[in-house]
This record gives sequence, C-alpha cells and structure tokens, in this order.
Amino acid sequence: MSKDSTALGSEHFAYITAHTTPEDRLLAELRTAAAAAGLPAIHIAAEQAAFLQILLALCKARDVVEVGTLGGYSAIAMARALPPGGKVRTIEFEPKHAEFARAWIARSDVNDRVEVLLGDGRQVLPTLAGDSADAIFIDADKQGYPTYLQQGLRIVRRGGLIMADNALAFGELLDGSSRDASVLAIRKFNDLVAATAGLRAVIVPLGDGCWVGIRQ
Ligand code: MG
Repeated sequence: MSKDSTALGSEHFAYITAHTTPEDRLLAELRTAAAAAGLPAIHIAAEQAAFLQILLALCKARDVVEVGTLGGYSAIAMARALPPGGKVRTIEFEPKHAEFARAWIARSDVNDRVEVLLGDGRQVLPTLAGDSADAIFIDADKQGYPTYLQQGLRIVRRGGLIMADNALAFGELLDGSSRDASVLAIRKFNDLVAATAGLRAVIVPLGDGCWVGIRQ
C-alpha cells in the first residue's frame, strides 16, 4: 500500500496521525527492520493499532486470534491491550515471516502473550475450539477471508469482536477496471459481511479500511 490512508486526504491523515497515540520505538524499529528484511510493507497503520487496542480493552479481551502475522506488528500491538495471562494466537503461512515475527515478539514486552502458529489459516483455524476467543483479526490472503470469517464466527464468543483489514481494497474498491484478484475478493467479502446474520458490523476508514463487528 503506497498511501498511508486509503479513504482520507493527506491533510486529514496528517492531523489524525499527529493526534493519535503514536507507535513506540519497538514497533517503529520492527517496521523498519521488516522493510530491510524484504517483508511486504503491509503492516497495519499505527492509528489502526491504537484503535484495535481500544476495542480489545473495551470488550475486556483475554484471548485473541489473528490470521496473518506478517512481521508481528499487529500481534504485539494487540497483546499489549490484554491483561496479564492474556493470549494472542497468530497464524502465519510464510515460514520466513513467522521466523521474523517470533524474533521480534521475543524481544518485545509481550513475549509471554503471543504464540505464532505456522500454517494455513484454512487448516489451523478448524483446530481452535469454539467460543475460545474474545476477538479475531483477519489480515491475510484476501481469497481466504470468507473461510476465516466463517471460522471466526465459530471461534469467537457471543459479544466478541470480528475484525478484518483492507476493506477498502488498497484504494481499488471502487475502480471498476481493476482485475486484481485480491480486490475482487474483498468486494465479494464486503458483500458477504453485510449479508451475514448475527454480525453487527461497520467499515472504519482508518488505514486501508477495517471491518469491526460484534458477534451477536
Ligand atoms: Mg492488511
């Protein structure tokens, strides 16, 4: 994602960034190191991380599932919103990314609260118990989103949070000429979420757009 914010103009984005709890040194260093290591620059935005932390604290989350660890940025951020004994189980398909994330989690202040599960979300999620999480954050391959949502609705307890990144499809959501498979997948996913019974959800236009829903 080349832009800092898909939906906001640069002036509003700069203002919001200047007035949002900033990322700390560790997360800033992680972002830089991830770029140097050749990881794709698709970590969530700092203001998204602050927003996720507030949501998790509000619902008193203890157990969080994440699909798509990448470099561990969002897992570390979310783990910091949990009480002692809380846990983020984060699933990563790419071994190189999982290795990078584990190294940075190990040097973070929440090493005991994050577990990286190496594998495909399609295989790993069905192994997690029903009603075993307070929240799920989906931020992996877009074609897999419908499966991750279905599993999330099983794994997250009633009243828990269902969150998914990139609802605005990298700025190409409304570009009718786009043939990008991820963009087409997000369009279908957005229609699916809007039609899913038992889920009260809204697209929040921070970063590249983030679905936030409550399992009812
Ligand atoms: Mg994303």
